[in-house]
Amino acid sequence: MFLGEFRYASHFWCWGPDKNGLLRKALIFLLEPQEGAVREGVKASLDPDTALYLEQGHLQEISRVKELKVSRYIRSLSVARETLRRAGGICELCKQPAPFSDINGEPFLEVHHIIPLSEGGADDVNNTAALCPNCHRAVHYSEDAPLLREKLRLLRKISGSSTNYP
Ligand SMILES: [Zn+2]
Repeated sequence: MFLGEFRYASHFWCWGPDKNGLLRKALIFLLEPQEGAVREGVKASLDPDTALYLEQGHLQEISRVKELKVSRYIRSLSVARETLRRAGGICELCKQPAPFSDINGEPFLEVHHIIPLSEGGADDVNNTAALCPNCHRAVHYSEDAPLLREKLRLLRKISGSSTNYP
């Protein structure tokens, strides 16, 4: 589905599952909506502080990608910034300082949605945690993932359970 014109903002590498669920390096493009060039329905869900994340593979698929699939990558940058500010450079799961600094000298932590957006989780700071890369991978892929997810739900006082995401 054509969503409109977006402008390249930046990109970064991360790990993500491929079609078979195996980890591979993924190039994530951060795109900003072009003023006045984005479809009305889409524009309604984008504020100036929101960006569209596109994985490399999806750029090739963009002509046949479904709106739902794309909307999974729309996340508020202000929520991410506030989550990182709140953490103050300390992983909210293992309580250790970020293992390294990013290229701007800021502690490197990743923003995790405790209830995934794809499962109806909110894109707000009550549903996020700043995690070190190790804990973030563990929450998704480790043997102890269900336990770690429970810890994060308790941290944010979120009831219920969610175990569907990889
Ligand atoms: Zn950690």
